[in-house]
Amino acid sequence: MTKAIGYAALAADRPLTYYEFNRREPTATDVEIEIAYCGVCHSDLHQARNEWGGTIFPCVPGHEIVGHVTRVGAQVTRYKVGDTVGVGCMVDSCRTCPSCEAGHEQYCDSGFVGTYNGTDKHSNGVTYGGYSNRIVVDQDFVLRVDPKLPLAGVAPLLCAGITTYSPLRHWQVTTGHRVGVVGLGGLGHMALKLAKAMGAEVVLFTTSTSKVADAKRLGADHVVISSDAAQMKAWRNSLDFILNTVAAPHDLDAYLSLLRLDGTMTLVGIPAEAHPSPSAYNLIMKRRSLAGSLIGGIAETQEMLDFCAKHGITADIELIAMDEINHAFERMLKSDVKYRFVIDMATLKQK
Ligand code: NAP
Ligand code: ZN
Ligand code: ZN
Repeated sequence: MTKAIGYAALAADRPLTYYEFNRREPTATDVEIEIAYCGVCHSDLHQARNEWGGTIFPCVPGHEIVGHVTRVGAQVTRYKVGDTVGVGCMVDSCRTCPSCEAGHEQYCDSGFVGTYNGTDKHSNGVTYGGYSNRIVVDQDFVLRVDPKLPLAGVAPLLCAGITTYSPLRHWQVTTGHRVGVVGLGGLGHMALKLAKAMGAEVVLFTTSTSKVADAKRLGADHVVISSDAAQMKAWRNSLDFILNTVAAPHDLDAYLSLLRLDGTMTLVGIPAEAHPSPSAYNLIMKRRSLAGSLIGGIAETQEMLDFCAKHGITADIELIAMDEINHAFERMLKSDVKYRFVIDMATLKQK
């Protein structure tokens, strides 16, 4: 065992606090990583506050991890000490079910092992995430990061990046498509950059009038204030695909009606409470689809990181100290994120 330090939620209604715990010694196929930066995903907040149920406390959140390899097991062939690497939302899966065999480990029939709040296959204990100084992960769930990219801006690619890249690819977004992105937070701002890089015409739907200029800078060709009925009406029947990243329950019909014939809206936001049920009529009248999508597989995550390196894409971040995390959570709840908080792990000190 190696001692690790981090920040944990000790209960759903308590702020995150300094926490000490143990990481396993690297096994033959493990990589030990010193964490340089960890992004702050809205899922971290949902889980730290037990909004989805099932959180095991203490909970050390964090699944947008980048850092450097400090130790490798004897059978590790893919990484060596000093390599720049990343870890996303998964640290293992069954590896044998049809989803895993197809490289879709996120849809593992047995459930993937989450980077935090998962069941560690080695100890049977709970997994602890990236709001910490080090982590030990099997080499098959470690990603290679181009050391030339600004590392803090790469961290959010490990969740926000892949969660938006995967559906854009699956629904084959490309040049000539008109794509809507709903919500300009961590996921939404990555969706703008990625959809733009894939050649789409991009329309951003936001509740925040203050984000219009930023949305255009980030890749939106058009920005629509979603509370303005006249603006919304102007886009009816016009979009091929919508990626909805909103973290709160809302009226899905308002967006479904913007899809053209055979269009799809894919939900990636996971609000604590359900959305009001959309109308069947709205789906039927233009053979529209409502879908969902979960992060992305390991091979696809590597593909996304390589795509971002090629296109010079990283997240727009606000770098924070570890002890600013509770304030960052509060700002995230107010939709006040520009556009992803990233924790500088150099600020995490032993107490
Ligand atoms: P975030 O940074 O907080 O962004 C969410 C954005 O949604 C806000 O910035 C805001 O954008 C909009 N919004 C928030 N409350 C709203 C409301 N009441 N009505 C309308 N719009 C609202 O969150 P995130 O990290 O991008 O995560 C978004 C959601 O995706 C979370 O539920 C998270 O758990 C989930 N998630 C899912 C996956 C997956 O695999 N499917 C992966 C990661 C995260 P505007 O100010 O522009 O309106
Ligand atoms: Zn996430
Ligand atoms: Zn599986």
